[in-house]
Amino acid sequence: MDRKLFIPGPTDVSPDVYEAMSKPMIGHRGKDFSVLFEETVDKLKKLMYTRNRVYISTSSSTGLMEAAVRNCVKNKCLNVGNGAFSCKWHDITKANGKEADILSLEWGEAPTAELIDEALSKDNYDALTLVHNETSTGVTAPIEEIAEVVRDYDVSFLVDTVSSMGGIRVEVDKYGIDVCLFGVQKALALPSGLACCSVSEEALEKSRNVEDRGYYFDFQVFEKYYNKKQTPTTAAISLLRGLDYQLDKIINREGLENRFRRHREMGELTRKWVGETGFELLPEERYASNTVTCVKNTLGVDCESLQKRLYDRGYVFSNGYGRMKNDNFRIAHMGDRQPGELSEYLAVIEELAGLG
Ligand SMILES: *Cc1c(COP(=O)(O)O)cnc(C)c1O
Repeated sequence: MDRKLFIPGPTDVSPDVYEAMSKPMIGHRGKDFSVLFEETVDKLKKLMYTRNRVYISTSSSTGLMEAAVRNCVKNKCLNVGNGAFSCKWHDITKANGKEADILSLEWGEAPTAELIDEALSKDNYDALTLVHNETSTGVTAPIEEIAEVVRDYDVSFLVDTVSSMGGIRVEVDKYGIDVCLFGVQKALALPSGLACCSVSEEALEKSRNVEDRGYYFDFQVFEKYYNKKQTPTTAAISLLRGLDYQLDKIINREGLENRFRRHREMGELTRKWVGETGFELLPEERYASNTVTCVKNTLGVDCESLQKRLYDRGYVFSNGYGRMKNDNFRIAHMGDRQPGELSEYLAVIEELAGLG
């Protein structure tokens, strides 16, 4: 049985996307590849609202989290930590031999512009990492306000948009993001295996003078091949075909505005359901994400048993992340998911958990 994934990545992939990926291989140093690469990059720039270069990496998103700090931290990094992925970025920064502090917030809390301003003023940081949409807690950071305060500091603004890009509008140039990274298996609804990042002129220039950038994730190497409309190493050509096709659908068929609106509708629908059934949201409502909702299990539902029974009915359910496994659960509403399918899923949860 094919099961619908209501987990926050990977998300379900439409059959026509798989079909677009099933074309023959081409050489990654030939003309056909460069055409495919250029078309895909142009669409990525539209999706990201940027004129910066966009690199495509054969890795999961974590690879580019590593790349961002490896290329852009020279002195000391401030990592904002308000959930599993943002805290992991702190670990990744230190694991790469960088000096780093963490602005440690409660899991479920939103990083505000004031908190970040205060933390940045305390030391001589040259980079800041922020997870735009904390998938572990369903919190969307108020990035527009944060961008306003970051502008006053001489820091590289490194942003993880892994579970928001393609579902929530992120305007890279307007926010002054130096490195904006994401994988394709979440709100973009593609098979896992590719990650993309935009890199500003300043970030590229800075990386030149940062030592020990390694090779696989070195922006200087990416840039050299980017200028030839190629990837540094053999590209994941099938995935690239899928990305090109899906971006075309997103931008030219559904339209970005419609796609963001659909995600907002699904977020609202889920939050309304949470209130009506008597559960509570983990985050404050104004920071609640439109791609994933984190629900406090205030009704004491046996999530393990619910997960098993949902599985038998054709759905993959997500409990809380890591240490929050038993205290809450998550409902992903991202990618190509439609509001109707989401309503069906919520009704089945109600039925199986004996709610209402
Ligand atoms: C899923 C996720 C990651 C990790 O992505 P991988 O593609 O598994 O490396 C990082 N950050 C956020 C916010 C995520 O949701």
